[in-house]
Amino acid sequence: MEIIQNYINGKLVGAENGQSFDNYNPSNGQVYGQIPDSTQGDIQSAVDAASTAFPLWSATTRLDRSNLLLKIADLIDANHDRLAAAESKDNGKPIKLASRVDIPRASANFRFFATAILHESTEAHQTDQDAINMTLRTPIGVVGCISPWNLPLYLFTWKIAPAIAAGNTVVAKPSEITPMTAFLLSELCIEAGLPAGVLNIVHGTGPNAGQAISEHPEIKAISFTGGTETGKRIAATAAPMFKKLSLELGGKNPNIIFADCDFDEALKTSVHSSFANQGQICLCGSRIFVERSIYDRFKDAFAKKVNQLLVGDPADPSSNLGAVVSKPHMEKVLGFVELAKEEGGTILTGGHQVKLAGALANGYYIAPTVIEGLAYDCQTNQQEIFGPVVTIAPFDTEQEVLMMANSTQYGLSATVWTTNLQRANRVSSELKTGIVWVNCWLLRDLRTPFGGVKKSGVGREGGWDVLNFFTEKKNVCIKL
Ligand code: NDP
Repeated sequence: MEIIQNYINGKLVGAENGQSFDNYNPSNGQVYGQIPDSTQGDIQSAVDAASTAFPLWSATTRLDRSNLLLKIADLIDANHDRLAAAESKDNGKPIKLASRVDIPRASANFRFFATAILHESTEAHQTDQDAINMTLRTPIGVVGCISPWNLPLYLFTWKIAPAIAAGNTVVAKPSEITPMTAFLLSELCIEAGLPAGVLNIVHGTGPNAGQAISEHPEIKAISFTGGTETGKRIAATAAPMFKKLSLELGGKNPNIIFADCDFDEALKTSVHSSFANQGQICLCGSRIFVERSIYDRFKDAFAKKVNQLLVGDPADPSSNLGAVVSKPHMEKVLGFVELAKEEGGTILTGGHQVKLAGALANGYYIAPTVIEGLAYDCQTNQQEIFGPVVTIAPFDTEQEVLMMANSTQYGLSATVWTTNLQRANRVSSELKTGIVWVNCWLLRDLRTPFGGVKKSGVGREGGWDVLNFFTEKKNVCIKL
């Protein structure tokens, strides 16, 4: 049994009430650990520690903060294999993916913000009346960071690193479904010598520990990534208290393939953008639209390639897909497949649970699934499934595909495949999303603004945007 503990005031401790709940390994359905079932009292202890640490941490020089964050990044790199194995076991993702993407990105997050704060500048405005305005930026105080299960350490550190780099102290909660690497991170922070109380990691459920973070009056800002419904609940709690809010929510992203695309590249990347991490990435393209003149050719080649993907043991480096994150999630995704059939969809490949042999027989595996024949406005094409399920449909004109692409309540990202630069530009500007990838997918540059529109969220992460979020601006006007 792996016993996970909270990290509060620099120490590893259990929940104050002594309660814990089970942590499951999605690859075999077995309980392999215990998670503290933290409540308001644990959040209060974390807030107390963070409030006490704030004056000293916010006054620590940028260089000292930077060096500490770099040390954490080094420790993540030094523990790469252990963290990748833990992430794969906790989440069900292939170890190959955790090794190549999740863990390197976690250390990159610390490195990026550790160095960004050394290059910040603030604005000055000289007025016509012999006065100068200086815009100062100061840390907010105690901030809350709440993250989901799909990219556990990657998204947790994407919030924590800029928050502490900017001089705030943090109370953070990872998803109860994937707490392991956040716990290992707390051990690394202790080893790095991060002062007590600067980062506090409290484990537990959303309704208990998460809600207590949203409600706490001393937590002045909340950075949240997760589902739209949870985001709505957090906003309803936090907005009347005038907390700063950054909400990165759900998506139903279109993947638009024009006939003039580089066919092979679009095909290869679309397989990846549909099924990477079992389709459990907020940026996955779950609605594929293909220009009619190449529809049959693309559809056949796509279904053939998807059919060849290997669903297997996450610990086996040859697996293309591992397990989805939990039993309820598997059931939810398979429920959407049934809904798609009721709505008149035809399953081109997949559409069922995969039963692996031996010790993995009770794991949560789903065959990568491609569905055609659905109306763009049916429930399957409007609701976020967040699993290895995509729909595919033909289109005739640019106008038609834009209408279908923009038809959902979401607006996180879109992918466009065309070799026509004018078209790429035109379509990108008409897509109602926060991010557009043209002839690529998930090509990340941490300096760029990251986030969505409509019900995909409010605010942007990344680069200066997130450092602005985690600071307050104060304008000082001096008459000369
Ligand atoms: P949830 O919204 O269920 O949970 C996200 C986090 O919020 C978890 O830590 C959860 O805790 C916590 N939480 C739940 N209820 C509350 C509450 N009342 N108050 C405070 N915190 C709460 O999302 P999932 O974990 O299921 O993640 C999947 C979702 O995340 C998808 O919709 C996906 O699109 C979205 N996502 C968005 C991204 C983006 O950048 N826009 C990136 C990645 C994912 P617990 O797990 O313990 O319930």
